[in-house]
Amino acid sequence: MVLADLGTRLRDALSSVESGSDQEIQSMIKDIVTALLESDVNIKLVARLRDNIKNQIKDSDDKNPSHIRKRLQKIVFDELCELVDSHQEPPQPKKLKNIKQKGPAKLNSSGKKITPKSNSYVIMFVGLQGAGKTTSCTKLANYYKKRGFTVGLVCADTFRAGAYDQLKQNAIKAQIPFYGSYSEQDPVWIAREGVERFKKEQFDIIIVDTSGRHKQEQSLFDEMVQISEAVTPLQTIMVMDGSIGQAAESQALAFKEASNFGSIILTKMDGHARGGGAISAVAATKTPIIFIGTGEHIGDFEVFKPASFILKLLG
Ligand code: GDP
Repeated sequence: MVLADLGTRLRDALSSVESGSDQEIQSMIKDIVTALLESDVNIKLVARLRDNIKNQIKDSDDKNPSHIRKRLQKIVFDELCELVDSHQEPPQPKKLKNIKQKGPAKLNSSGKKITPKSNSYVIMFVGLQGAGKTTSCTKLANYYKKRGFTVGLVCADTFRAGAYDQLKQNAIKAQIPFYGSYSEQDPVWIAREGVERFKKEQFDIIIVDTSGRHKQEQSLFDEMVQISEAVTPLQTIMVMDGSIGQAAESQALAFKEASNFGSIILTKMDGHARGGGAISAVAATKTPIIFIGTGEHIGDFEVFKPASFILKLLG
C-alpha cells in the first residue's frame, strides 16, 4: 500500500468511531493494524502499537463520545510518531568562520600564522545503487549552501558508469564545487584526495558520495569501511529507497553493522513510496531519518520531523 493510501486508511479508521463503544474501538484498532501491516511496517512494531493503544484507551472512565474520539486521535497520533521517531539527534555541522573567529590567530615560534587544523564537517553517503545517493548528495549540499555553508562534493563512486558525470552536472547546476576523476579507479584514493583538497580550502562541509551495488555485497561493505577510514566522516548517512518494502529492515541492519551510519535519508517518498518498510528500518537501527526526498529535482527535499510527517499522513 502506498503512503497516501495508508493515510486515507488511518483517517477512515479514526473517523469510524462515532459512539465510542468498545466494539467500534476494537474495529478501529483492527483497521489501523491491517493498514500498517499492508504498508510493510514490521509486525512486532504493529503489535506493540496495538497494545499501547488498547492499554491507554482502557485507562479512561470518560464515556463522552466526543472526548473518546479526541483521546483516540491523540493516542494514535502519538503512537504513530513513536514509530518514526528514533529520539536521536544527529550532530549538526558548524560554519568554520564562526569557529575561527574565536580568539586571536595563533603564531608559531618564528611568528608565522599557524593555519588551524581543518574542522571541515565530512559527511559520507552509503546505500545501494539506485537508492538515490548521488541525487541526495547534491540536494543536501544545496540545502546547506542555501543556509550559508561552504560545501564541496566528492564523487567516490567509481563503480557506476556515469556517476561522476551525474554528480558533476548536478553540482554545476547548483553552483557547488565538486571533485572527481574520470581516470582514477580507486574510490578510496579519490575520496581522500577530494576531502583533503576541500579541507585545505577550509570548506565547512564536505560530502562524499560512494558507490553502491545492486545488492548487499561484501565488496561494497569493504569499500565503505576503507573510504570511511580514509576520510573519517563525522557523519555517515544511509540513503534508503522509501519504496522498498520488507527488505528495508535487513538492509538497514547490514549497513549499520558495516558503516555504523548515524542518520537516514529516505528517498522517493513521492509517488509510490510504501514507507512502512523504511519506518521499520528506523526502529530496528534506532537511527533518525533526517531528510526525505520527494522528487527528482534538487529542491524536492524536506527536513524530516516525526510529528509533521504523521500530521501530513493523517491529513
Ligand atoms: P544512486 O545510484 O544511489 O546514486 O541513485 P541516483 O541518485 O542516481 O538515483 C536513482 C534514480 O532515482 C534517479 O533516476 C533519480 O532521479 C531518482 N531519485 C532520487 N531521489 C528521488 C526522489 O526523492 N524521488 C524520486 N521520484 N526519484 C528520485
